[in-house]
Amino acid sequence: MRPLNAQIRLDYLRENYQTLKNLHGGKMLAVVKADAYGHGAVRCAHALADLADGFAVATLDEAVELRKHGIKQPIVLLEGVFEAEEYAKVDEYRLWPAVGSQWQLEALIAYPWQQPVKVWLKMDSGMHRAGFFPHNYSSAYTALKQCPNVADIVKFSHFACADEPENGMTEMQLEAFDLGCEGLAGEESLANSAAILNVPQARRDWGRAGIALYGISPFGGTDERLKPVMRLVTQVFGERVLQPHSPIGYGATFYTSKSTRVGLIACGYADGYPRRASTDSPVAVDGKRSRVIGRVSMDMMTIELNAAQDGLGHEVELWGDVVNINEVAQAAGTIAYELLCNIKRAKFTYYE
Ligand SMILES: *Cc1c(COP(=O)(O)O)cnc(C)c1O
Repeated sequence: MRPLNAQIRLDYLRENYQTLKNLHGGKMLAVVKADAYGHGAVRCAHALADLADGFAVATLDEAVELRKHGIKQPIVLLEGVFEAEEYAKVDEYRLWPAVGSQWQLEALIAYPWQQPVKVWLKMDSGMHRAGFFPHNYSSAYTALKQCPNVADIVKFSHFACADEPENGMTEMQLEAFDLGCEGLAGEESLANSAAILNVPQARRDWGRAGIALYGISPFGGTDERLKPVMRLVTQVFGERVLQPHSPIGYGATFYTSKSTRVGLIACGYADGYPRRASTDSPVAVDGKRSRVIGRVSMDMMTIELNAAQDGLGHEVELWGDVVNINEVAQAAGTIAYELLCNIKRAKFTYYE
């Protein structure tokens, strides 16, 4: 069997959840949208079921999948519905929809609810993607309050730049949010991972932990408080020694400068490893750091082996404990979120 494996450490997931919840205080949503950032939403939700105050997803299908697999905790639909008819399923599966636009609000009020619904009312505090402007927020809130089917309203907003500690945008958004919420009772939620870790004023009734739940720092680099849940590993399945001045791979973009032992490994961009992270992207062979040389191909890539090392059959970590995924993301000019969501074809193994 092709030896590309995503090892998912559910014990680390639980530890990260607890760490983030303790740090934030109050209640914590485990954000499991996009198949739990590529980790497997059903498995991750089950692993957290006895700990988590609730889950958050991006689409109705993602929420229904969790319900069908026995997840009973609250599930927030972070973007709300995409068409009015979806409120029927929101009602049936007892989901908590976000409301971030006028049509979502009107359709929710018009819908004949079978049971009271808890609404997450989104404010646009400055990111300018979705949500009610601060000056329109209290009228949206009041309209919902007057609807007999609305059991509760959670006031929430999302930060654009919480992963940049020096960026003043977060403070501006905090001020806009608090001003727009003046006089409106109820729970609040502001903090994504970066804010949970780094913006104490953003810690309110509910945190919303995504990337940090999976053990990855939203700031790049590492965070001692978090444990990486995924290890993506493969094996050397070919090796050769190349003479100095030999080209490697498509485009002949890399030439050896000395006699070089080269390992061929089973992972390529069709598996979600970023092609842009070619020569110099870090890997670890049996726990020792090395690097990709030449371009990443569709199904395989080439790495540098230490001169004395017999590589065949040895384990290569693409990211996990030795190689931080943020390093690979940086080499590829992207973020860890994107790398995780792109993983495919790997065999997933779950460890309790
Ligand atoms: C995805 C998402 C989060 C989680 O963000 P992280 O940076 O991964 O912690 C929180 N809130 C909302 C509204 C989101 O869409």
